[in-house]
Amino acid sequence: MKQTNVSIFIPHIGCPKRCSFCDQKSISGSAKAPSADDVSALLERQAAVLENSGMTAQIAFFGGSFTAVPREYMLSLLEAAKRAVERFDAYTGIRCSTRPDCIDEEIIEILTKYGVTAVELGAQSMDDEVLQKNLRGHTAEDVRRAANLIKQSGMELGLQMMTGLYCDTPEKCLYTAREFVKLSPKTVRVYPTVILRGTMLGELFERGEYKSFSFEETVSLCAKLLDIFEQNGISVIRMGLHASENVERDMIGGVYHQRFREIVESRRFLEQLLLRLKPLEKGVYDVFTDKRNLSRAVGQGRENLAKLGAAGYRIKFRGREGAYMEISPRAPKKGRKNAF
Ligand code: SF4
Repeated sequence: MKQTNVSIFIPHIGCPKRCSFCDQKSISGSAKAPSADDVSALLERQAAVLENSGMTAQIAFFGGSFTAVPREYMLSLLEAAKRAVERFDAYTGIRCSTRPDCIDEEIIEILTKYGVTAVELGAQSMDDEVLQKNLRGHTAEDVRRAANLIKQSGMELGLQMMTGLYCDTPEKCLYTAREFVKLSPKTVRVYPTVILRGTMLGELFERGEYKSFSFEETVSLCAKLLDIFEQNGISVIRMGLHASENVERDMIGGVYHQRFREIVESRRFLEQLLLRLKPLEKGVYDVFTDKRNLSRAVGQGRENLAKLGAAGYRIKFRGREGAYMEISPRAPKKGRKNAF
């Protein structure tokens, strides 16, 4: 049965400070904090939709820092979600996202009591200088401690990281990914920094003191991050911000593209293919890949074909069910000399 999330956005309420990249106005100003009754009503409506479409869902409290909101409010939301899980077969669990310094033994006890099955930590970086310069208000050690508490409780661990923050480097991002692997999360989300007007990063950017990574640098870095996580059995469930009118309106720099994940996967395919072709003679090859992967293989605007051609390889991509990357020298046409 197909599984999805019913997302409930909890606006920023309890964060002690404003992080360098956070546009508090769009997080807290525009969205109203839902009451427990609002949540119950929404879950009842959505249960009917899920049942009709034969799907199940997790109830996901996303947004600011779920475990930092006033305690009574958090408990009332958990109570509404727990009741929905008990009442409707369509709901399989509850998940939430929060800050690493808002997790302790007491919170873990509460979350498990209400049947929360997964917690995502907004870690953003494992480099203390990056965390400090971006006013995160927690350290890498806080991430390790919170991640271990979540794992020990039996709940699923998710980690979120950003690339290109103030004082960040691609090496620091790769270090963050390797540190994440040591914490064995089930899932990871990777968000390239988007510089929004009205944030600390926005001011630094406008003064010319910061510019984040370029699009090209970010694509290449994220292809490596994808590799690190997938090779370690960690599923990357998001890469790049969701399409949003607010982001498109308020963005003044950084990296945002509605098809960012696809671009990264396409780059990764190109790099893997170039590596496989390297020991082979330059020339003409057929490369077989599953039909679903053909557009990634060819690249946006046939970019991969052009880059392969520039490297001396004339490639024809062909569909083959279940194949990822099967390379075969192109058979010469009758009456013609082999191209290589
Ligand atoms: S923890 Fe999240 S919601 Fe709170 S200020 Fe930082 S980015 Fe904004």
